[in-house]
Amino acid sequence: MSSKMLKFVSTEKSMPNKRGAKNRVADFDEIYDEFNTNDAETQASRCSQCGVPFCQVNCPLHNNIPDWLMMTAEGRMLEAYELSSQTNNFPEICGRICPQDRLCEGSCVIEKGFESVTIGAVEKHITETAFAEGWVKPVAPRNERAETVGIIGAGPAGLSAAEMLRHRGYQVHVYDRYDRIGGLLMYGIPGFKLEKSIVERRGKLLRDSGVHFHLNVDVGGETRFEDIWAEHDAMLIATGVYKARDIATPGSGLNGIVPALEYLKASNRKSLGDQVEAFDNGTLNAESKDVVVIGGGDTAMDCVRTAIRQRAKSVSCLYRRDRTNMPGSQREVQNAEEEGVAFKWLSAPQAFLGEYKVGGVQAQRIHLGQPDATGRQVPEVIEGSTHELPADMVIKALGFDPEDLPAMFGLKGLEVTRWGTLKIDWRTMMTNLDGVFAAGDIVRGASLVVWGVRDGRDAAEAIDKWIMAAEDAPCAAGVER
Ligand code: FAD
Ligand code: SF4
Ligand code: SF4
Repeated sequence: MSSKMLKFVSTEKSMPNKRGAKNRVADFDEIYDEFNTNDAETQASRCSQCGVPFCQVNCPLHNNIPDWLMMTAEGRMLEAYELSSQTNNFPEICGRICPQDRLCEGSCVIEKGFESVTIGAVEKHITETAFAEGWVKPVAPRNERAETVGIIGAGPAGLSAAEMLRHRGYQVHVYDRYDRIGGLLMYGIPGFKLEKSIVERRGKLLRDSGVHFHLNVDVGGETRFEDIWAEHDAMLIATGVYKARDIATPGSGLNGIVPALEYLKASNRKSLGDQVEAFDNGTLNAESKDVVVIGGGDTAMDCVRTAIRQRAKSVSCLYRRDRTNMPGSQREVQNAEEEGVAFKWLSAPQAFLGEYKVGGVQAQRIHLGQPDATGRQVPEVIEGSTHELPADMVIKALGFDPEDLPAMFGLKGLEVTRWGTLKIDWRTMMTNLDGVFAAGDIVRGASLVVWGVRDGRDAAEAIDKWIMAAEDAPCAAGVER
């Protein structure tokens, strides 16, 4: 083993510098700096090169983490980049926004008493170095193929599939209803976690790789799925999940109560320099308001931190469970607390107050009772605990469900699960319709970027196999439907 490694005994874990809270709430830029070369090498050298690397097992992409850490520690950055980009299409994005504490770093088993290796920040450093050195190149397939694949959805699942299909020489057309590519990378996740130039840089590379983007195309709206399907040999549906869950609380129809994604989209558009009327007229702008965000997931964390940056008067987060039982990342909660968000754990809304416009939230305290069949403790209202919070704006961040795709796409036969996600055969990534594949959140339900990338890669491989098999079939003339 390299003498550069196993330095966890003598070297403490450190993260790249985080900008101070006062400074970072003044803009929407990322809050973490980059590692410099020396820090990246030092932190990578803490890895103990485990025989069974649990970090790798618990990375959805099974990234070869121990090897690229060793290469980084030894200064072999080109090799580290080549290895890391073999398993991940967007390592600089995952390095920034994966919840590493629940994935690779949470499974890092350096000996007891020592903190994990800083895997995500090193992954980001490797790819940022590669961009700076000009090592990241567009895909140049060895042979162009005649077959075409249509992809609906330019989020991480659709984009990673597009890149992998270009590697195999297919003609790839990506359709999206938005005017920019990236899906939630562009319009959901705020700039302080992922600056938009990072997503745009990938978009340019994909265009230079020969991927054709058809933007502002609302499939199921003015464009029929069948019409696009007719132009391609295979289709991939990667449309994500966008139906916001609602809350049946008295007063929930009052003005000033807004869905989280509308709010975040408006903020991201403003940062990109777009004209956003609902922001400019104050509907989706938290400036000078008492803001209450309802929910405890990553979307809620993004909303509270966005409201702080829009100079809200106060920002509270209402969540019916406690801190240890929340779905959002602990790292993000800490960031939010540092930035001035007040968390009201074990609290649930009982009513929204106001005549025409929301003026407050009536809330109740919650106690966690016995676990239910899923093992989670059931929230129970504490009698007589009603209290009020001032609120000029309430943001509902209660999660997302899939839209009714079979109806939307006019594909009555398309099978869905009881949650409304698309049903696929996981061995082939194909829906019950021959030649129609699916990947990402529309299959898993609201998930993570890294799982979208994994599914997109798997789908590309499955599509390739399916097209090749159709060509090899004795009587096939092209791919038939
Ligand atoms: P999406 O990213 O949703 O992309 C789907 C694309 O399909 C969109 O561009 C959409 O416009 C397009 N589309 C949909 N319907 C149609 C149609 N009918 N016609 C044409 N185009 C259509 N994950 C993390 O790992 N880390 C995080 O920090 C994180 N933060 C998040 C914050 C927020 C606010 C949200 C909402 C999610 C967050 N996630 C995070 C989850 C992550 O963003 C998603 O799991 C991931 O983007 C899913 O990828 P996807 O490609 O399946 O779908
Ligand atoms: Fe960790 Fe995500 Fe990178 Fe995998 S892709 S190594 S889980 S940061
Ligand atoms: Fe290195 Fe931690 Fe992975 Fe072990 S689990 S190989 S120490 S990063």
